[in-house]
Amino acid sequence: MKKLICKKCGNEVLPEKDKALKKEYPYYCSFCDENKYRFECMRVEENKAQKRKELI
Ligand SMILES: [Zn+2]
Repeated sequence: MKKLICKKCGNEVLPEKDKALKKEYPYYCSFCDENKYRFECMRVEENKAQKRKELI
């Protein structure tokens, strides 16, 4: 399973729900408290992300 993370903080981003905002910023990072462009996010394997957490 894949998920999208914020390149800046590494936390998972959520799809923006506001229709007007969504046109420019399709994602929202709750950690940065910012709307994100598509290129500001990165698609990762959920399993790998979990393994990384276990190592820390
Ligand atoms: Zn972020």
